[in-house]
Amino acid sequence: MLPMKNKFFGANWKMNLTTSKATDYFKTFEKLFATHSLTHKDIVFFPPMQLLAFIHSQFNQNIKVGSQNFYPQKQGAFTGEVSADMLLEDGISWVLIGHSERRSHLQEQDSLIKQKVLWALENNLNIVLCCGEDLSIRENGQEKTFIQKQLLSALEEVNPSHASKIVIAYEPIWAIGTGKVATSEQIGEMHQFLDHNLSSLGFNTSLIRIIYGGSVNAQNAKEILSIPYVDGTLVGSASLNPKDFFTIIDA
Ligand code: PEP
Repeated sequence: MLPMKNKFFGANWKMNLTTSKATDYFKTFEKLFATHSLTHKDIVFFPPMQLLAFIHSQFNQNIKVGSQNFYPQKQGAFTGEVSADMLLEDGISWVLIGHSERRSHLQEQDSLIKQKVLWALENNLNIVLCCGEDLSIRENGQEKTFIQKQLLSALEEVNPSHASKIVIAYEPIWAIGTGKVATSEQIGEMHQFLDHNLSSLGFNTSLIRIIYGGSVNAQNAKEILSIPYVDGTLVGSASLNPKDFFTIIDA
């Protein structure tokens, strides 16, 4: 029997929505949630940096807010960056690390991702660590070797006592924003592989959620969430529509 974990739903807004659009968003979202129980579900919004404090002020403690970025240093001459202390003081308790768009557009390498993971966990932030292969790696049948390398590089120095603060997002790059979803077999196989690798690294996997991201929407969420070893979803485009994101959480 697989352990029961709270399902995790992340909304990655990327560089979308403004304060006024976010205000409208939450008016609709709150109405949808008025009669809905959030028991056994963890919901985290990852808005652009500019909106973090505003969105945090919109919610009670059931819904959390996370940052799409931070820099793994205490403070200082790091123009354009934000620190763990700044986030925590404003009630921002989650961070996204290793998203494929930051790896490709901002040239974030495995070495920086490893530093971010260690810094975040040591400074009391919870992390969603993203991993995922591109299409050529998948077509060459190298996806497991590739994902194993990403996971090992990011987590090999992490103390397993941090397990409950870690969520792993499997996001095949060829499925992000493309409308092309991985099949249930591909998702199930990779999530089970991740679970086994986390165990080999010494983590208690009943405490770590492994979530899927890549073109999840209101229509396919139910099927994806029923796959063994899938503990939730990271949602990009569909999270920009409050009704669609609500349907996914409710699936
Ligand atoms: C993402 O970028 O994390 C993502 C899953 O995007 P989308 O849902 O749009 O594919």
